[in-house]
Amino acid sequence: MISFVGAGPGDVDLITVKGRRLLEGADIVIYAGSLVSKAHLDYCKDKCKFYNSAYMTLEEVIEKMVEGEEKGLKVVRLHTGDPTIYGAIKEQMDFLDKKDIQYEVIPGVSSFTAACSAIKSEFTLPSLSQTVILTRIEGRTSVPESEDLEKLASYGASMAIFLSVQQIENVVEKLKRGYKRGDVPIAVVYKATWEDEKILIGTLNDIVDKVKKEGINKTAQILVGDFIDSSYERSKLYDPKFTHEYREAKN
Ligand code: SAH
Repeated sequence: MISFVGAGPGDVDLITVKGRRLLEGADIVIYAGSLVSKAHLDYCKDKCKFYNSAYMTLEEVIEKMVEGEEKGLKVVRLHTGDPTIYGAIKEQMDFLDKKDIQYEVIPGVSSFTAACSAIKSEFTLPSLSQTVILTRIEGRTSVPESEDLEKLASYGASMAIFLSVQQIENVVEKLKRGYKRGDVPIAVVYKATWEDEKILIGTLNDIVDKVKKEGINKTAQILVGDFIDSSYERSKLYDPKFTHEYREAKN
């Protein structure tokens, strides 16, 4: 069996219990070495074999998986955060489907929720935004025109922007055009939950300078929206005057 496992954002204790158990039992671990903490590998058996996929092609990764499968070994493919978001797992699963090899996918804590927790905020605040947009700016990987950052920003929803901090000027320019204001709160969270985590908070008007000053050009989440710093309505769920399935209103 091949298990795609979400390692979480950095802190090794943020993997799921299921993911940790799979690591403990694995014979082969193929890990995304550029972003997955090596400390996860300390939980594996002494005889476990490790491969860092940062140095491998898709074909080489599949070769290792097939080899393990043919020997009846347990293979863990360890991805950063949650494997279903910018994880490039679909192409691996398609290869395995073609070879009729079984696999499972174990979710993980994504860096976008880890970053929001780091700044102690909530993406979805009543009357401000009930929508979270996960996106990225175009780089070497293209983004469909209909999902251009300026257009997405025009919704005014809460946003988490992956893979984009190296183009912070461009990101901010598009956001300003989309939001049509410069005072929108924005947070840049570098290496959320790692020991060297850094949090920068500002507005579209001043964040570029802050990011440049800290020299942050990779492994960061850009969170944008009024949810970061604004007044909002209380939730209905915990409102004493609101009745729901588990609680009667108190008047
Ligand atoms: N599957 C991963 C995302 C992989 S894409 C997830 O769910 O988080 C890699 C991008 O994720 C990075 O460029 C960065 O934007 C973001 N990222 C990953 N780990 C991060 C962390 N600990 N803190 C901030 N951003 C992170």
